[in-house]
Formats: sequence, structure tokens, C-alpha cells
Amino acid sequence: MIKFYNSLTRKKEEFTPFGEKVKMYSCGPTVYSYPHIGNMRAYLFVDNIRRVLKYNGYEIDGAMNITDVGHLTSDADEGEDKMLVASEREHKSPYEIAKFYTEIFMEDIKKLNIDLPEHICPATTVIEDIIDFVSKLLNMGYAYKTSKGIYFDISKFAQYGALGGSVDQKKAGARIEIDNEKRNPADFALWINAPKEHIMQWSSPWGMGYPGWHIECSTIGKKFLGDHIDIHTGGVDHRTIHHENEIAQSDCLEGHKVVHFWMHNEFLQIDSGKMSKSLNNTYTIADLEKNGFEAEDFRFFYFNAHYSKQQNFTYDSLKSARNARINFIKAINEHKNGDSQLSESKLENYRQEFLDAINDDLNMPKAIAVCQKLLKEEKSKDIYNLMDDFNKILGLNLDKQIENDIIPTEILNIAMERWNAKQNRDFAKADSLRQILLEKGYKLLDSKDNYKIEKI
Ligand code: AMP
Ligand code: ZN
Repeated sequence: MIKFYNSLTRKKEEFTPFGEKVKMYSCGPTVYSYPHIGNMRAYLFVDNIRRVLKYNGYEIDGAMNITDVGHLTSDADEGEDKMLVASEREHKSPYEIAKFYTEIFMEDIKKLNIDLPEHICPATTVIEDIIDFVSKLLNMGYAYKTSKGIYFDISKFAQYGALGGSVDQKKAGARIEIDNEKRNPADFALWINAPKEHIMQWSSPWGMGYPGWHIECSTIGKKFLGDHIDIHTGGVDHRTIHHENEIAQSDCLEGHKVVHFWMHNEFLQIDSGKMSKSLNNTYTIADLEKNGFEAEDFRFFYFNAHYSKQQNFTYDSLKSARNARINFIKAINEHKNGDSQLSESKLENYRQEFLDAINDDLNMPKAIAVCQKLLKEEKSKDIYNLMDDFNKILGLNLDKQIENDIIPTEILNIAMERWNAKQNRDFAKADSLRQILLEKGYKLLDSKDNYKIEKI
């Protein structure tokens, strides 16, 4: 039995899919800037759910949007168009921007060995479907026209606020300039009229315009998964506005509850605080690599905390995760040629304990602890085989030649210190650290804003 915490009912509930396959929707990335490791926590969470469902024998039909149009500066879809801002900043067309950042996102996903949904859909490829969705809401009386576009009337949906959003929504509505044409402050845009100079616009029954942000997820979910979606995921920041609005759109159109389980991952914090551009701590996977880590270290780090709790990222904690991963993989491989035998009942107990952990709302810290206990048993090929099976959940590379490929933490530290010294133009210190590394058998290859460590 799988149990997941459902943000809608605020309870852990037994999970059973509505139909044969599990239909799962995940809010995807906005592709106007580099994805950071906080975003990657959200997709490791998706990966985690998918692997646990598959391990339990379910087939999955999953979908995810790529937001390449329409997410304005605030979640309430007001303010500047983020895509326009990026376009001006980088002197590229919106499509070039979207392509560039989508590719980077996909590379990170691959490095993290994330099991992606079956359907990945950019919003700009479903504009016709969005227009159709909005037309229907308009005809059914759930939406209305203003001089700015088409708005959803939240007073027509009695359950509005079920995810906990109503109060925040009102605040979000109140914060923005008062729009006299809106019937309720929290009414949100489904379709926005575009001024002539707006670079992304499409013709619609209401003139030239572009979609609001929330409608793309409802439309893509409906198009690929239908009108019953078992699980919908996203970070907690999406719970009170974006997801509240998705529920309103989809449930009003279909006339019934569309999403059964809402699952939200808590935020990754950096150095105990928020990631922010001004603090220069919006780390990307490339930043971790620049400091000598591998994406897989971050994957292992993810398992340290339950998804529903905030997780604090520091380079020190990443180092610990890296060491733990190295030891973990080594320990697994030490069982490969082991000749002791573990009794079938003992193996079965471990299997059950592991399964209980993952099926208890994805308790990964517990699942890893079960593995650690198992690895301490006498060396046995059975243990290797069992770990190989558990690895369907963990998604680690067990075959890596660890001794040769993995650079020890001590070396990473020195390399990082040397890079910082170089950045601070303390070249004497940088050179002496480079020398120390050479003596220890490692050389550094610098590029403009990056370096690589190589074993000599
Ligand atoms: P965005 O590209 O901003 O729409 O974000 C993509 C996904 O990452 C969404 O599900 C967000 O909720 C999630 N997210 C954003 N920041 C963080 C963070 N610091 N920790 C965890 N998840 C995050
Ligand atoms: Zn969404």
C-alpha cells in the first residue's frame, strides 16, 4: 500500500489510481533563465514519485509543461512579461531564449538521471487548445471580458481556496494596482490582449493576445492526460496561487474534481536562507560541477531530507553527501563477489523495510538508512543483487570505477580554495595551491569562468 500526503485534504492517504495507468502532471520549468538546484529538487521529487510508482508495478502516463510564454513577473500574472525581459537582456528572440534554456534544463535532468514524464509540452505549441479552453469557460459563464483580456471569475467557483489559497490570493490581488474592471481582486487572466509591439502574440476570437500562465497547465493536463489526473506535483510556492487557479479552471470546465492528489515539495534553502540573485547564491548544476562535484552528488543529497521539509544546502553538506555516496557505492560493490549467504527471510525483511519506507510518503532518509544497515551485513552477492533492485528507486550509477573517477574531497577543497584565490587576484596563493595539487597528483585546467580537475 502506497501512502502519499495530499495537500488538498491535508492528510496522508492511501494512493490508488483512478484508471489503469497513473496519470501524473508536473508543473515544468519557466525557460527564461538558468534552472537552479532548487528547481532540480522539484524534479528529483517528480523522479522519486515516478520510480516509487513503477517499483510498485504501476504504469505511468505523465505530462509536464515548458513555460515559454506568458508567466508575468508575479504569480498572479501581473507586471512585466519575463520572456520579454530575457529577450531584451540577451538580444535574442523569445524562441531562441526558450530553446537555449530548455536545452540546459534537459542537460541537467539527464545528468541527474531524472525519469522525465512521457509528454513534455511547450505552452506555445498548444495555443489553439488554450483558446478552446478559454472559449468554453467564457461560454459557460466562468469567465468574462475586460479591456485587458479574459478573466476567470473566482466567485463562480465555490471551492476556490481549497488548497489554502484564498487569503493569499486576496493579498496578491490587493498588492497589485486596483483594476476596476475585475469583479474580484483575485480574478486572474486567462488570456491577455497584446499591445502591437508585444513580441509573442496569437490571433484569437478576442483579438491578438497571449495566454495567462495558469491556463497552460490545465490545458496541457487535459490534452495529454484527460479529465482525471491522479497526481499533480509542484513546489510549495505554486500551491496557493498557481494551483488554486488550475483547480478553478479545470474543475469548472469538467464539472468535477480533476486532480485527486496534490503533492508539493518544500523549498531548498541555501545557507539557511532564500536563494537570491542579490546574494549570488542561485547555484546551478554547472556551478556544482565547477566546484568539482558531480550532479549525482546532488541527487544523493536530495535523499537526506523528506521532500515535505525544507532542505538546507551548503557546500559542506554537499561534500558530506558526496562522501556518503562514494562510500555507499563502494560498499555496494564490495558485495558483488561476496560469498556469504543471507537467509531468504532476512533478505525479505530488508526488502519489506525498504518498501515500507518508500511507500510511506517517500521516506527516502529511512530508505537510505535501511540500505546502510543491509550493507553492513557479511559480504554477499545476494546483497549486491538486492541493492541493484533498490537502485531502481535511487537511480545511482553503480558501475562507476569509483577509485579512479572520483576526486577525493580534500582535493576538491584545495581546488575550490585555489579558484577563490584566483578570483580574488591572490595569485601567489593560487599558484602555491596549484603546486600542492600537482604534488598530490592532480592538475587543473582553467577556462574563462570554470575549471576542471584531472588526475595525472
Ligand atoms: P519555475 O521554473 O520557477 O516555475 O520553477 C520550477 C519548479 O521548481 C516549480 O515546481 C517550483 O515550485 C520549484 N522551485 C522553485 N524554487 C525552488 C526551491 N528553492 N526549492 C524547491 N523547489 C523550487
Ligand atoms: Zn503548473
